[in-house]
Amino acid sequence: MRITKVDHIGIATRNAQEVAAVYKEFGLAVEATEEVPSQKVRVTFIPVGETRLELLEPTSEDSAVAKFIETRGEGVQHIAFAVEDLDGALAECERAGMRLIDQTPRQGAHHNAIAFIHPKSTKGVLIELCKRRS
Ligand code: ZN
Repeated sequence: MRITKVDHIGIATRNAQEVAAVYKEFGLAVEATEEVPSQKVRVTFIPVGETRLELLEPTSEDSAVAKFIETRGEGVQHIAFAVEDLDGALAECERAGMRLIDQTPRQGAHHNAIAFIHPKSTKGVLIELCKRRS
């Protein structure tokens, strides 16, 4: 598989506006906000060069991000790698014996196709593979 970059870093937040104010102190500005119903989150995008921070604010108590905050608190929730061939990358992960959260890609923010790898397979880091629809 060929990973081209860190696409984004997902950060679990209770209040994205408050968290965005912290990054503003670093000179980083919010670009846009988008609701992603499939993941029950509102996403606030903060570009950092080629990569983005994605502030994830749950829109429902049963969202995975809400559960993450409950057990681990606010902070980095996942790292997303951009890949050119998402189906191929998933098949490779499966062959390597990794536990896939998504057997097939689903739609994420920005209409990207995304799939998550379980943190039990990666020594504790939730990894997202994503393919930008450009
Ligand atoms: Zn993500």
